[in-house]
Amino acid sequence: MNDLIATARKAQISWSANPIARSAALSAVAKSFITHRDQMVDLMVDEVNKPITEARGEFARAVAILEYFSQAVLDPDGTSIPTLDPNLILSLRRPYGVAGLITPWNFPLAIPLWKAAPALAVGNAVIIKPSEFATKTALFLQELMNKTLPQGIFNVLPGGSEVGAELVDSADLISFTGSAKVGRGIVARAAALGKPVQAEMGGHSPAIVLPDADLELLASHIQIGAFSYSGQKCTATRRIIIVGNEKRKSEVIDSLVAGAEKLISGDPRDEKTFLGPLIHSDSYKNYCAAVASAREVGSVISGGRIDETGGNLPSATLTDSIPPVHQLMCEEVFAPITHIASVSTTDEAIALANAVLYGLTASIHTSDLEASLRISKRLETGMVKVNGPTAGVDFHAPFGGDKDSSYGMREQGKASLDFYTHTQTITVNSGTRKFQ
Ligand code: NAD
Repeated sequence: MNDLIATARKAQISWSANPIARSAALSAVAKSFITHRDQMVDLMVDEVNKPITEARGEFARAVAILEYFSQAVLDPDGTSIPTLDPNLILSLRRPYGVAGLITPWNFPLAIPLWKAAPALAVGNAVIIKPSEFATKTALFLQELMNKTLPQGIFNVLPGGSEVGAELVDSADLISFTGSAKVGRGIVARAAALGKPVQAEMGGHSPAIVLPDADLELLASHIQIGAFSYSGQKCTATRRIIIVGNEKRKSEVIDSLVAGAEKLISGDPRDEKTFLGPLIHSDSYKNYCAAVASAREVGSVISGGRIDETGGNLPSATLTDSIPPVHQLMCEEVFAPITHIASVSTTDEAIALANAVLYGLTASIHTSDLEASLRISKRLETGMVKVNGPTAGVDFHAPFGGDKDSSYGMREQGKASLDFYTHTQTITVNSGTRKFQ
C-alpha cells in the first residue's frame, strides 16, 4: 500500500499542475472507451449479471461522465474577493492529493467513474478499491485508463474489506458507496483520522401514487424503479404508497400486477431479459426469506417464485398488507421485492414515506404539479422524481440522500468537484504597502 500511495502521490504533482493536459487526457479517454464498448458490456453482463440492455446504458453513461468532467476541468476554480486596490484576495480550490475510492458491485463501471472523473478533473490521483464481485470490470477499466493517462494517476487495488480498511487509513480523502453498515464504520474511521469522507449508502425508497396518477405510466415507472436489474439498486422503489379509496387501490394494484407479470426473468445475455440472477446465493437467500416473511405477515400478490435450480433467479415480486412497522417496510432487501400500502390522505402518505431511517430518493405520481411540489418539500429524501422511476440518476446533477442513506457532500455534477478540493485563500499585497 505504501508504495502505491507514494507512486500516486508523485504522479499527482505534475497531473495537478496542468489543467489543459488534464482536460485533453480525460477527453481522449472518453474517445478511446468507445472502441471497447462490446468488451466492457460483455464483462459487466458476465461478472455482475447485468442485463445486456442495462449494461449498454451503463457504458453510455460512463462515456458521458468522462466527457462531462473533461470539460469541467476548465471551469473557474475559485473566486476573487474585494480588498484594497491594488491588492488581491483569491480563494482557490486545490486538490487533496490521493483520493481513496471504495465501490460496490452493482454499477461496476459507472460508480468508479463518477467518483474518479471529478477527483481526476480537479487534479487528484485516485486509488479504487472495487467490490470483490466486480474486480474484472475494474481491472479492465484500469487497463483502458492507463493507455491514455500518465502512469500512477489511476490505480485499482483489488481485495476485500481489509484492503478497503487499509485504503481508508492511507489515502488523503475517502469516497465510499455501499451498504449502510460498512459505510458507517468507514465514516467513523476517516473522521477519527481527520480525513474528508463522503458515503453513499442504502435506501428504502417510496413511490407515492396520488388519486389522479395515470395508471399505464405508473406501471412503466414501477417496472423500472422496482424491478430493473432485479431491484439491485440503492434507488430502487421498495414501497408503493397508494392514496385513495378501496376501489382506486384495487385499480392501481391490477395495473401494477399486470405490469410486473410481463417482466421476464432469465439469462442477462438475452435482450428480452428484464431480471437476471441475483449477484450471489446469500443475496438470493435474503430474497427467499423476504418472500416467506411477506407471506407470513401479509400477502404476495405477484411473483415470489423461488428458483429451485440453484440459479439465484428471482421474479418481480409485489406484496400487500405488510404492517407498516414490520422490518420489510423499513430495511433494505437488495432484490426485486416491493411492498404496497394504502392510505386515505396525502398527509398519511408523507408520514409513511418518511417513517424509515433511510432518505435516498422518492417518486410522486400525479398530474397535479402544485401537489407534487408541496409533497416534494415535505419528503425527507435527497432526491425526488415526479412522474418518473425512483431509480436512475443524472450524472450532471447533485446525487445523494438524507438521514442514514448518505454522509457528507453530494456526488456527481459540479457538486462533486467541491468534495475533491479544499479551499486555499491567497492574499496578495502590493509590494509598496508597509505593515505597521
Ligand atoms: P458493501 O458495503 O458490502 O461493500 C462496498 C465496498 O466496501 C466493497 O468494495 C467492499 O469490499 C468494501 N468494504 C467492505 N467492508 C469494508 C471495510 N470494513 N472497510 C473498507 N471497505 C470495506 O456493499 P455492496 O454489497 O458491494 O453493495 C450493495 C450496497 O450498496 C447496497 O446497500 C446499496 O444500497 C448500496 N449502494 C448505494 C449506492 C448509493 O449511491 N447510495 C449506490 C449503489 C449501491
